[in-house]
Amino acid sequence: MKIKADYVNTPQWKELTVKSRLPEQLKCLDELAHNLWWAWTYEARDLFKSLDESLYEEVGHNPVVLLERLSYERKEAIVKDKTIMKNVKDVYAKFRAYMDVKPDSSRPSVAYFCMEFGLSQVLKIYSGGLGMLAGDYLKEASDSNVNMCAVGFLYRYGYFTQSLSIDGQQIAKYDAQNFNSLPIEHVLDENGNPVVVDVPYMNYQVHAYVWRANVGRISLYLLDTDNDLNSEFDRPITHSLYGGDWENRLKQEILLGIGGILALKKLGIQKDIYHCNEGHAALCNLQRLCDYVESGLTFNQAMELVRASSLYTVHTPVPAGHDYFDEALFGKYMGGYPAKLGISWEEFIGMGRENPDDHSERFCMSTFACNTCQEVNGVSKLHGWVSQKMFAPLWNGYFPEENHVGYVTNGVHFPTWAASEWRHIYDKYFDKNFMNDQSNEEIWHAINTVSDEEIWKTRMTLKQKLVDYIREKFTESWLRNQGDPARVVSLLQRINPNALMIGFCRRFATYKRAHLLFTDIERLAKIVNDPEHPVLFFFSGKAHPADGAGQGLIKKIYEISQRPEFLGKIIFLEDYDMQLARRLVSGVDIWMNTPTRPLEASGTSGEKAEMNGVVNLSVLDGWWVEGYREGAGWALPEKRTYENQSYQDQLDAATIYGLLENDIIPLYYNHNKKGYSEDWIRVVKNSISTIAPHYTMKRQLDDYYDKFYNRQALRFKKLAENDSRLAKEIAQWKEAVAERWDAIHVVSKDTSFIDNGGETGMKYTMTYVIDEQGLKDAVGLELVTLKNNLGGDDREVYRIHPFKIKAHEGNLYTFEAIIEPDEAGAFRSCVRMYPKNANLPHRQDFCYVKWLD
Ligand SMILES: *Cc1c(COP(=O)(O)O)cnc(C)c1O
Repeated sequence: MKIKADYVNTPQWKELTVKSRLPEQLKCLDELAHNLWWAWTYEARDLFKSLDESLYEEVGHNPVVLLERLSYERKEAIVKDKTIMKNVKDVYAKFRAYMDVKPDSSRPSVAYFCMEFGLSQVLKIYSGGLGMLAGDYLKEASDSNVNMCAVGFLYRYGYFTQSLSIDGQQIAKYDAQNFNSLPIEHVLDENGNPVVVDVPYMNYQVHAYVWRANVGRISLYLLDTDNDLNSEFDRPITHSLYGGDWENRLKQEILLGIGGILALKKLGIQKDIYHCNEGHAALCNLQRLCDYVESGLTFNQAMELVRASSLYTVHTPVPAGHDYFDEALFGKYMGGYPAKLGISWEEFIGMGRENPDDHSERFCMSTFACNTCQEVNGVSKLHGWVSQKMFAPLWNGYFPEENHVGYVTNGVHFPTWAASEWRHIYDKYFDKNFMNDQSNEEIWHAINTVSDEEIWKTRMTLKQKLVDYIREKFTESWLRNQGDPARVVSLLQRINPNALMIGFCRRFATYKRAHLLFTDIERLAKIVNDPEHPVLFFFSGKAHPADGAGQGLIKKIYEISQRPEFLGKIIFLEDYDMQLARRLVSGVDIWMNTPTRPLEASGTSGEKAEMNGVVNLSVLDGWWVEGYREGAGWALPEKRTYENQSYQDQLDAATIYGLLENDIIPLYYNHNKKGYSEDWIRVVKNSISTIAPHYTMKRQLDDYYDKFYNRQALRFKKLAENDSRLAKEIAQWKEAVAERWDAIHVVSKDTSFIDNGGETGMKYTMTYVIDEQGLKDAVGLELVTLKNNLGGDDREVYRIHPFKIKAHEGNLYTFEAIIEPDEAGAFRSCVRMYPKNANLPHRQDFCYVKWLD
């Protein structure tokens, strides 16, 4: 027998971790490290930093890794260090006091779904504004001690980190996260094994691990498919945020919505309200429908309960920004659902179509969200109106301003975004109850009792900190990436912390118009190079890897920044993340934003600036329409002058240059004998005292409760009690109305007023006799009048005049309206019939309309 040359079996590698052992006295640090409370508690961060300052920097401020890597000697030394040990005790006591407060059960409970959460730069599961908002929301939910949990993804790669090539081309890099070094933990079952959620996909299952990020008192459950239980086709579902093709996107949305609900079920969690933050999570309503149907309800009954308890927040102002799926792709994954629900495929996919019968329409996740959530809201007042118009085609029969789409203006989590220097000032001068009463302008007025010197000093400290941070963070990478070291050194030296510093930092989408400032390069060069009054611009932000135009913009700005006249005056800072954002929103003097109106749904970075005495210069779009106060910042006019975008851009650019040259720069440099500008500080104080109070996350959270959660939870409870009696009743009533709707008809009428017109000061009676086909008082009538003189296609509801029931005999209902015209003019009127039921939340809930002759 020939001897084999080699003979080796395959090793069965075992996953094992060796943990760094902490001395008994430091065990509590591990608990602290695994709760993101530290992300918004500077005392905790300072404590971790004090354990080993250089290591803290090295590990990117990640306390979990810090503890792992503390040397044995250092641990010994810490235990012997009385100051540090006292601090450990104090911070831990503060943490326990925070955690041990009983949850407030008087407010409805909420499950919050989102594709991304920005909690800390350590946990790379966010890309930008949407994630930041969701992260801030959970932190405030914790501070406000409400009953909330959230569902999202644990991404292996998350969003990319950005660097620039020598010619300004964006380079996107995806770094794998090591889950064991993150401030999260595996959710375990009663036997200590990781909980696995089995999510149905076509004819097989995808298995997701569930991790928990402790956000103070709030649990954020993160699903993760990158494990051995899944095939190579499904592991990547949670690899990257906003990456992959449409099929992967659909697989992600199935995981978030359907998998999210299954995960909560597995953990035994049920909440009053299900909140879809953006349409990505809308399929959570599909799973909830399935669950109700499985429990014995009909589809229509289930729909009543699901709708009543769900809210959809839209963040995207243009229809093209929403997710659409081809019928073939959608059918491949969702084909089994109609049978589970007891409806047809056409009825099912129709829930994602503007016109359910139009077979050419793709399935739109946002439309599905509108159809399965009782309430919908935009994220600022203006964006609420934009959303009313955007979704209006879903509710034919009503004008955009009549539909139920509301708004809650976004806010920011104050403790996360206010620099500790400002926190100290606020702690010292503001009312002690400030944190519980953050929207109270009165309290913020105390900023006026702080001396101008202290304000100026604080601003200067933060400006210097920003410059130090930039020198420290970017020197190495610039020396590596930007060629000529002499040039880099000269650039770094030229950064002048005393200059008027302006920041423009956000996602590089073209509508944000980062290019605006560069419309007239010569004029700009003159502005930044005034030796007496230097001005410095920072740009920062990522462009989506598929957005060529956005990357082109970055390249253009980078190229300009390299010209001799702009070196050290216009600076592009790579890899905008939470940490850089925190330095920028507190370190510059002015926060600039120049979106094309009305495409900035809200924007939040300008609100972060407000918390730090940084003044906004912005187009009146998003939150700034509401936020702007005279003498507390600058606004670019709201009306669009030119239809042509490039003319409008030129005009807006000229306005900005003019504002800088004539108002802003002279004001900033109007120094008194002590070397600061009292006029500037006036603006800073105005902006802190009159604007900041209204843009905290506390205000936003309270708004969601006041406008939506409370009302919805109450109604849901009524619908669900006694074995869903009311939900069944409503479903039955809707079925009856739907069945007879076409048969309900006008028997006789007197419409001479709208047929012939009338005169002001007179009284006219209109009557209709309606055959309700055996239904009891099931319809309402109203005279809808539009004003005609608006020109063009603009239609605006002028007045709605309800009819009253005058008489009722058998099936016949007599409706009457008495009209007393008080304004002359040209109008258009028509009578609208609608199903009437006091148990409905609003008309769009059952959007049947018949316009009567
Ligand atoms: C706040 C923030 C955003 C969102 O800012 P916008 O004003 O909405 O553009 C994006 N990215 C980071 C890192 C942020 O901190």
